[in-house]
Amino acid sequence: MINYHFHDDLSADATGALGLHCGTLDGRRGRICVTNHAETLDGEGRWIARADEMIRRFERSADAVRAAREHYPRLEIRLGVELEYRPEWVPAYERLLAAVPFDFVLGSVHRVEGLNISGGFEVDAFFLARSEREAYEAYFRDLREMVQWGGFDVVAHFDLIKRYGHRHYGAYRPQRYRSSILPVLGEMARRGIGLEINTSGVSQAPGVPYPEPEILEWAREVGVQHLTIGSDSHAPGQFAQGLAEGVALAAHTGWTDFTLYERRRPVARVAVAA
Ligand SMILES: [Zn+2]
Ligand SMILES: [Zn+2]
Repeated sequence: MINYHFHDDLSADATGALGLHCGTLDGRRGRICVTNHAETLDGEGRWIARADEMIRRFERSADAVRAAREHYPRLEIRLGVELEYRPEWVPAYERLLAAVPFDFVLGSVHRVEGLNISGGFEVDAFFLARSEREAYEAYFRDLREMVQWGGFDVVAHFDLIKRYGHRHYGAYRPQRYRSSILPVLGEMARRGIGLEINTSGVSQAPGVPYPEPEILEWAREVGVQHLTIGSDSHAPGQFAQGLAEGVALAAHTGWTDFTLYERRRPVARVAVAA
């Protein structure tokens, strides 16, 4: 099993120490990477990113990874992080990345035009005030800006906008947004940034992984070289959610292997069918 996106209790919105997540594999072999949120919640439920707090917390995450490697020798465990892109947080992220020896860094857009589109009380305000086209195009515009920054290895949940977009407008067709999506994929290919199959969508409103099959096919066609897979689970009981569907999606869209990372370099490939 490969799971290169999950959160433990060092993310403000997740539960279970790393060992509990590892324990769900029941002694099976696995290649896993814990990717806690860099940012954290303040006392009023707002996400904040302060370099000193992040560095201290991810030093604890690195300690937890070292301990879990000893306890679970059949698991290849990597230290990762998920960065939510906001331009004003970039200096703090750069300090974090310089201080902690991460194996793998995900980049995410959770907030568009000042509102959180991935959960919480702002979601309805965002979607109710916009047409489907306005919402999706604004999201893909921010995604492009994040890729132009480029301080990470793989784009997480490429079409996360469908999580609640699906609820407000129904299923979307990526073809409608092809002209907004292709430049993002092209920029990823040029920069060596990879794409993720994120299987949390299987148990959320969309009922399918992120991204849609067309996007995985276009990514291959424009030369994106790396694909990873992760459940984006936030509790041990969800650890493997949707991963089987995600592997099937990779195979169905013509991807032959998943990339593994170490010290932020792609170091190995594992056949999708393995
Ligand atoms: Zn995310
Ligand atoms: Zn996540």
